Amino acid sequence: MDRRTFLSLTGAATGAAMTATPAQGSSKPGPWKDGKKWVYSITYDEGCEDLLKHAVPIHREFGIPGHVAFVSAQLGIPRNVPGSSYHDLMTLSPDQMKGLMKEGWGASCHSMTHVGVTAENADVEVVEAGKVLADKLGVDIPIFTVPGSNHGHPPAIAAAAAGGYKAIFTIYDKVNTFDTDLLWLGRTPLHTEYPGPFYSQFDPWKRLQQAQATAGWVVDYCHLPLPDTPVHPAKDCTTQELRARFEAVKQFGGDDVWLAEPNEVVDFLLNDPGARQRRMDQPEGLNTLHDTSMRALYTTND
Ligand SMILES: [Zn+2]
Repeated sequence: MDRRTFLSLTGAATGAAMTATPAQGSSKPGPWKDGKKWVYSITYDEGCEDLLKHAVPIHREFGIPGHVAFVSAQLGIPRNVPGSSYHDLMTLSPDQMKGLMKEGWGASCHSMTHVGVTAENADVEVVEAGKVLADKLGVDIPIFTVPGSNHGHPPAIAAAAAGGYKAIFTIYDKVNTFDTDLLWLGRTPLHTEYPGPFYSQFDPWKRLQQAQATAGWVVDYCHLPLPDTPVHPAKDCTTQELRARFEAVKQFGGDDVWLAEPNEVVDFLLNDPGARQRRMDQPEGLNTLHDTSMRALYTTND
């Protein structure tokens, strides 16, 4: 059997198994909006203009909304973060983003300058940055997306209330659930290949079954998918991989998955009466314990 035949056979087998999976669960409605059973979102940090060329058409094809995390001082100008793989790339302008918002996309604040949040600069990088972005886009900005590394997360939490934020995206790779602390939202890297020692390769099905099993919320994280070769294999995927991801989400999720823009999900968790009750009813779960231990670890490092 040649490789192409093998791939088509295994692809068909996988497809049959996956379409059968949702039917194995309960037929009663799920806990999310419109009775959906789990949630899928995807975020693009930095807001490169070439998303319009490479990612947006794939979003339109699959009917999946996107989300952009913006460096507030850098909309409509070339990115100015020396050392970044995305340095000098043109960013989306406010008008371009407003156009995407009409198609269901949303935005969050990714700090003022991407310098890395500290207790000393959080007034500007977290609090002021949110206001600047809200002003440019003409919408509230309830989500802060930690730039750089999770080391900026504790000072971002400390400044969140002053900035009017209701939620924070980190780069902890996990599925969010009803009991996830909204200031500790995880994201799943959608990347071509991680660095060593494991060199983990792209998996279009990553965390989807876990999200289904836990009535959870997967939030993918990438930057600017390009055809054939990623900007950086550990920071991005290709457009072919993005398409494979969306195919997996639609095939596995069927009618059970809520394809949601993250601001909508945060609003649902905070304001939908059923969701609020469910969050209150959650026992202290592993998720919370895990968060508590990480919080202690990171706060002692500060
Ligand atoms: Zn970034």
